[in-house]
Amino acid sequence: MAAIPAPVPAVDAATGVLTGATAHYRKTLRDLEGVFSDDQAFARRLAAAPGEVVYDVYEVQRSQAPGDLIFGTSILEPGVVGSEFHMTRGHLHALVDRVETYYCLRGTGVLLLESVPGGIETIELRPGVVAYVPPARIHRSVNTGNERLITLFCYPADAGHDYEIVHAANGMRSLVVRAPGGGWALVDNPRYRQRDA
Ligand code: ZN
Repeated sequence: MAAIPAPVPAVDAATGVLTGATAHYRKTLRDLEGVFSDDQAFARRLAAAPGEVVYDVYEVQRSQAPGDLIFGTSILEPGVVGSEFHMTRGHLHALVDRVETYYCLRGTGVLLLESVPGGIETIELRPGVVAYVPPARIHRSVNTGNERLITLFCYPADAGHDYEIVHAANGMRSLVVRAPGGGWALVDNPRYRQRDA
């Protein structure tokens, strides 16, 4: 009997949809309770449209074997909660030395990186930028523009995800907010809880 050929994955550059994906995750406002800093602004957005999509992730994972790769697309809708731009939850890889790349296909944004001691770095995303996440960095993408931010990511299949490190610190050390004159700015997260060395 002939094997059924696996579809060759393909990205629709306009929408970010990855055909041939083995998994698809969607995060709506209701899934992101506690992620944004301004509780009142979040409550207003939630009351108006609890099922509004904030981001979608499509991925291809063939195995969890060391040496294998996971790749896929992240599609982050534009918008703000209060002054804070839409963003992904953010995570550290469970195997902390596992790195990642993000290739920006569409839109503008910021990749926010935080070391475990709390050092912040940013990489501005625009089409064509290839961003590298070094080992042991918490990372999140933020859409600072007016259209979808679409990135293609790739990381080791055995990396795993630690979301708790972000939750336990009440988020990341810095917030990416709309600047008064337009564009974006970093401000301190007032609720940030410093990790023990
Ligand atoms: Zn990652």
